[in-house]
Amino acid sequence: MKIYAKYKDIALSSIRPEGWLRKYLEKQRDGLTGHLEVAAGEPFKSGWGRSRADIEFDDGDSCDWWPYEQTGYWIDGMIRCGYLLKDDFLINKALERMNAILDNPDEDGYLGPEFLKEKGHMYRWVHSVFFKAFMALHSATGDERVIPALARHYLSNTSNHSQLREVCNVEAILWTYEKTGDERLLNHAVNAYAEFCQLSPESDCTLENMLSDRVSTEHGVTFNEEAKLGAILYMYTGEEKYLDATVNAYRKIDRDQMLVDGVNSSSEMLRGKDVLDSHETCDITEYAWSMGYLFQATGEAEYADKIERACFNAAPGAVDNHFKALQYFSCPNQVIADKTSNHSLFYRGSDRMSYRPNPGTPCCTGEVNKIMPNFITRMWMDDGYNGLAAILYGPCKVRAEVGVGRKTIEIIEETDYPFRDTINFRINAEMPVQFTLTLRIPIWCKDAEIKVNGTVEGEKPRPGTFVKLDRIYRQGDCVTLTLPMDLKLSHWSGGGIAIERGPLVYSLRIEEDWQRNMEETSSGDDFPIWNLYPTSRWNYALAIDENNLDREVEVIYREMSQEPWDIKSTPLELKVPARTVEGWDIERKSTILKQAWHEKGCPLEIREVEGDFKLTPPLPPVESLSERLGREIEKVTLVPYGCTRLRLTIFPGCTPHEK
Ligand SMILES: [Zn+2]
Repeated sequence: MKIYAKYKDIALSSIRPEGWLRKYLEKQRDGLTGHLEVAAGEPFKSGWGRSRADIEFDDGDSCDWWPYEQTGYWIDGMIRCGYLLKDDFLINKALERMNAILDNPDEDGYLGPEFLKEKGHMYRWVHSVFFKAFMALHSATGDERVIPALARHYLSNTSNHSQLREVCNVEAILWTYEKTGDERLLNHAVNAYAEFCQLSPESDCTLENMLSDRVSTEHGVTFNEEAKLGAILYMYTGEEKYLDATVNAYRKIDRDQMLVDGVNSSSEMLRGKDVLDSHETCDITEYAWSMGYLFQATGEAEYADKIERACFNAAPGAVDNHFKALQYFSCPNQVIADKTSNHSLFYRGSDRMSYRPNPGTPCCTGEVNKIMPNFITRMWMDDGYNGLAAILYGPCKVRAEVGVGRKTIEIIEETDYPFRDTINFRINAEMPVQFTLTLRIPIWCKDAEIKVNGTVEGEKPRPGTFVKLDRIYRQGDCVTLTLPMDLKLSHWSGGGIAIERGPLVYSLRIEEDWQRNMEETSSGDDFPIWNLYPTSRWNYALAIDENNLDREVEVIYREMSQEPWDIKSTPLELKVPARTVEGWDIERKSTILKQAWHEKGCPLEIREVEGDFKLTPPLPPVESLSERLGREIEKVTLVPYGCTRLRLTIFPGCTPHEK
């Protein structure tokens, strides 16, 4: 079997998160990931491994599969988090649900509840979600039940896996093909996608539409679930058309929908790049996961940069610092996050931008548990030549067999990245071993430097490439990678500007007043629902000259904390000149336009609703900005986007010299 991937996954059990990454996963364990059935209630008490008899469905039959989608996300995140932390509580909790399914197949090999077996309408979609947990289990432990069980399930041939999102099973089918070499699985995956393209010609993710120039407009999460399939099919068939399609589909996302925090707009449909465009938290998870496949298929550093950008900005920004509450929609500009502040058209005026353990549809509540475990899963990869490649950076340890003799080594990655620019890779090897250590040079880094045991190695690395260090490594060797981060200003609609530095995007530090929403107490005292209000000024324009960023923006290093995404202990700040904008306030409205589902089976509709709504405002119009600017130039504090729960990221721009 030939596999066309440039880089392959290594065992989940071989990577051990350290430093802030470990602390992040521990918070997941102690927060939502370890206790979602308490924090959010249904559907997390039901779904896989549980009876569905006690769930009340208010949406009727068409959504019977929901509990299985949502618990599937959760269990996948939980089992990965568990094995990365080597935490029995998480592992056993996930395995209890997984074993109930894995050990009880139908006679024909089908896994799962009977009612999902025969019905059409994308019921089999939920298997593609849940089976990722089995793939993780196999990666972590080599559990011998997994491969035969998945092979029998897919070869039982009771579904074509071609109805709408059912086609996402192509991912697990091809994973099973790789493990078994059974050509019937390859054929099944190729046929499923071909039939999907015929059955759903209007989907943005058919081969033809991904390859075309047309703007993608469908449900954003569905797009991210399906668009990756081209990259996956390429890796097992070598047919370039599949890869070209996924590459082009995401090139269009960059062109039409990419937000400053590294994830496409999606509420719920793919939107645009307006300052108030937001995204569902599910998009953070699935966009980053898709970028992982694009990276493996192409070997291009660009896609690894994109995973970091999404996971270091959008991801921590959508969750509270205790990992006990999340947003359904999050936005680069959100100066209020309460029960009426959702400013996205979809359910505008609702609580979908507030931090709560159970926001809106519980898909995001399940998906949020996967983001950082998935990130860690892909930090290191196999280069296919007995070497080891550092794809995503952060504090961790990795153990792997390398070199022609497959000798076990350990690499300790010591770093406070992305808050600092230096990464040390310390080698633990019983005996000297020759292998290639591959290091990614991000596209944003113009002055990267590599030292081996203190001596500069090779020529200056080029941005957006991989440096391959093929040498004999000995116990105690240290490779040091330095990735200096330059300030950069990016431009957005309505004259908006944002400041970036390396992989991090920066937002105004806004003081936060967390008020518990006592109207809803369903989640109990351990998992409150919050209304979040600003207690400091936020209405600033940046008075900055793009050509003099280094002179005008001061970079301040604070002490590195194990909780760097907490606004109280952020390790980095920028001081930036700014001027206030008079009359630019939170919008208070009594009538708004809201897009919602009218009733079961009806399409989305927009209607006017009344109430008392407080919304983040758009940028002030460029034409009147200069008249509204305060005279004084103040120095305001910007912090990494991921440290903020209220934030202004896209600012009005003005020059310091305007009067
Ligand atoms: Zn969601």
